[in-house]
Amino acid sequence: MTEIPDKIEHFIGGRLVPSVSGGTFDVADPVSNRVYARAAAGDADDVGKAVEAAAAASDGPWPGLAARARARILNRIADGIEARGERIAAVETFDTGLPITQAKGQAARAAENFRYFADVIVAQHEEAFSQPGQLGYVLRRPAGVAGLITPWNTPFMLESWKLAPALASGCTIVLKPAEWTPLSASLLPEIMTEAGVPDGVFNIVHGIGEQAGAALVAHPRVPRISFTGETATGQVIMRSAADNLKGLSMELGGKSPCVIFADADLDAAVDSALFGVMSLNGERCTAGSRILAERSVYDALVTRLAERADRVRVGDPSDPSTEIGALVHTEHYDRVMSYVRLGAREGARLVAGGRRPSGLPAGNYLAATVFADVTPSMRIFQEEIFGPVVCVTPFDSEEEAVRLANATRYGLAAYLWTSSLNRAHRVAAQVESGMTWVNSHNVRDLRTPFGGVKSSGLGREGGQHSIDFYTESRIVHIALGETHVPRFGVS
Ligand code: NAD
Repeated sequence: MTEIPDKIEHFIGGRLVPSVSGGTFDVADPVSNRVYARAAAGDADDVGKAVEAAAAASDGPWPGLAARARARILNRIADGIEARGERIAAVETFDTGLPITQAKGQAARAAENFRYFADVIVAQHEEAFSQPGQLGYVLRRPAGVAGLITPWNTPFMLESWKLAPALASGCTIVLKPAEWTPLSASLLPEIMTEAGVPDGVFNIVHGIGEQAGAALVAHPRVPRISFTGETATGQVIMRSAADNLKGLSMELGGKSPCVIFADADLDAAVDSALFGVMSLNGERCTAGSRILAERSVYDALVTRLAERADRVRVGDPSDPSTEIGALVHTEHYDRVMSYVRLGAREGARLVAGGRRPSGLPAGNYLAATVFADVTPSMRIFQEEIFGPVVCVTPFDSEEEAVRLANATRYGLAAYLWTSSLNRAHRVAAQVESGMTWVNSHNVRDLRTPFGGVKSSGLGREGGQHSIDFYTESRIVHIALGETHVPRFGVS
């Protein structure tokens, strides 16, 4: 039985502390929807203290440590995560409703993020530029205090995806976890301390986005904000960050197409399309939530998707046989259900799910849901639902497939299924998405740029892109001989 705390505190300057105001907010689990803990509700005062601690640590030895020394600490963090893998997964499953087998995968990936950026930082080298008479070389410096604001879906893994490169770069950190899922982040202080992260380098302020998050974004001593969350929140953050001209990384929403041509391996395409949208409860930014299918195979695909969706096992997230668990929060569950009702009202054909599964009278459960005959004018085609709901739309030509793929404001991911090499390259070049996979679902190479175009984001994370974000590059120009200087004021 996983031990669950009933109190969650901030972590500031190496100590667990309550809010300055003494304020708390309630945290519930998505299976019983009962409040299991009260978490410290941070505001500008708590953020001020955390930034003060992080800024002081930024003036200390941390930013100047040899890359190898920082890498050792990152590897020890990874060790700490791996040693607690079962516990992290159990806690994440309890708090988010993610199926336990998938939560275990996310915990393993979190450790891998730290190991990966430990390797990146020791291999880091800088550019030099040589031309007759002049040599230029780059000095790279940590940006200072990084504000990390994270969402409730796969929270531990997404936190690690920002923490690892920020620490590797020599930044100090204030993390603001999502208020619906603060539990797994509360394991980080022990892991960081045990790994040797100096006090003040890593801080957490819990709280409501509009209070704790907004205060972090507005703080003048935080030059970088890495945000993952909804597009609308990202827009609010950009406005606020403008006052201090902060560097922003924005990983936002998606409504990604999965385009299946008739010449594809249809068995593999069905497997991948279902997994791509139903895994992680469909609460996945890169979910292929719009399946576009070529007309000649459309009816057969809809039938197969519906049959398979009907057999997806929805249930207790802690049961290893569960494929879809409980949606994160009653508010989110109501929102997803409202889209299910909207789809029916808009005239889409419900071919699977759309209801609470039988035998699960309580908890935020929804059967895997498939809507067919969805048209681009429908809101369920355009808007991010962020649950186990997929829309299927037919197309008649490659041109129409591209047009439909690009017919939303989002552009995070795209999945293409075809056996034609020429078509794969042609379509990949035309689809407006930050990341495209051909004949595959979302398999990541951590070196590659991660991020979206259009309303799905700004900037890229992953590999060198993350290091560039958390550091400043400065150029030094050295004259190698005499420099010709036009002489002013001599005539
Ligand atoms: P959200 O925008 O509601 O919240 C994200 C975080 O921002 C939370 O910590 C929240 O407290 C904070 N926040 C809210 N208002 C704020 C404000 N005014 N100032 C500062 N911080 C504020 O998002 P969510 O509902 O937690 O997450 C789901 C969304 O995240 C989906 O849209 C999903 O697509 C997106 N997402 C994107 C990626 C990606 O990499 N592109 C990855 C995961 C999730």
